[in-house]
Amino acid sequence: MSNQLSDRINSVTPSATLEMAAKARELRASGKDIIGLSLGEPDFKVPDYIKNAAVDAVNEGYNSYTPVDGYVELKDAIITKFKRDNNLNYEPTQIVVSTGAKQALYNVAQVCLNKGDEVILPCPYWVSYSDIVKLADGVPVEVPTSLENDFKMTAEQLEAAITPNTKMLWYSSPCNPSGSIYSKEELRELADVLQKYPQIIVVSDEIYEHINYGVTEHASMAEFEDMFDRTVTVNGVAKAFAMTGWRIGYIGAPAYIARATNKLQGQVTSGANCIAQRAVITALLESPARIEFMVKEFKGRRKLILELLNDIEGFTCNEPEGAFYVFPDVKAFFGRTVKGKEIKNASDFAMYLLEEANVATVTGDAFGNGNCIRISYAASENDIREAIARIKAVL
Ligand code: PMP
Ligand code: GLU
Repeated sequence: MSNQLSDRINSVTPSATLEMAAKARELRASGKDIIGLSLGEPDFKVPDYIKNAAVDAVNEGYNSYTPVDGYVELKDAIITKFKRDNNLNYEPTQIVVSTGAKQALYNVAQVCLNKGDEVILPCPYWVSYSDIVKLADGVPVEVPTSLENDFKMTAEQLEAAITPNTKMLWYSSPCNPSGSIYSKEELRELADVLQKYPQIIVVSDEIYEHINYGVTEHASMAEFEDMFDRTVTVNGVAKAFAMTGWRIGYIGAPAYIARATNKLQGQVTSGANCIAQRAVITALLESPARIEFMVKEFKGRRKLILELLNDIEGFTCNEPEGAFYVFPDVKAFFGRTVKGKEIKNASDFAMYLLEEANVATVTGDAFGNGNCIRISYAASENDIREAIARIKAVL
């Protein structure tokens, strides 16, 4: 009866990251020894001081509906975090807490876009951006970048992509999937172009902010005074605190966007989970130094996976500066037939790795770049070693 469904949902592609993770789970359940490098999910335990804050919240009787835009104390903690880490000065009316950064992004698209409005997405972009935009009747405009330029969009490319219908620019830095980080100078160059187009709102997704390997310092578009009133800064606790299932994300935004988001959320999900919100107050107010051990660990894994991949002929990698993904170019394999299977594109390649090497990765097509695949190194060193050895063997 799928013809009874809306055109809207029929036009949406399922999330490739979640789909691949589900497929890996299914194969594992059927007895296959699958190594999952498809999902961007830290494999660390949530630090005890955060877990204890959640337990305290349960014992203190937090169980009622929460304010739609988040507890006042959490909004204050977010304001403190933005000031401490990003040099951003938000008022409480500019903060909205949501059920994950994904909902925050969805909200922003729903409240900002009209039918036909164009959203510039430098490629590769995070898998859900284009469908979130389409769900709001917007039009994703992909701007291809190159491995040679570390997968970053230049000011010239931005300007060339702008049309009278351009309403927004969305990007993540550190980038999922490439790990690239825009320096403050590079953001300034983009901001200089945007000065000529005051109708364009920027969504700066900074959820990997703390997963930074120290080459390029994190910078926020909203730090520039002339961009503050037209930038939505998106963040969350899934990555930095290994709290993917707690589902807390948030925005700092112009007050009119925050107000509209609050109105939308009030009709859709209401406020985010009460216990998770109380725990996140503690997570954000404690020093970021307490989560540095995870970044150190990821840095070691990054070195390892790059060494192993660069040892396989046909893989070309950039050096990710943040997040926990590598995004190797694998087009050298396209057109080859291995073990009787023809590899025409990145999807075939990822499927080949799943079926023959029992390693789950994600096709680059899902991120707007069909020459690459994404490999998450949010996995143990043992799994990384075994996975890449298997990949090497089947190629
Ligand atoms: N933005 C990016 C770039 C991501 O990788 C993710 C993945 N989780 C999200 C947003 C969504 O985060 P959350 O889990 O908080 O919904
Ligand atoms: N953001 C993670 C990823 O890119 C989690 C999966 C998802 O939310 O799509 O793998």
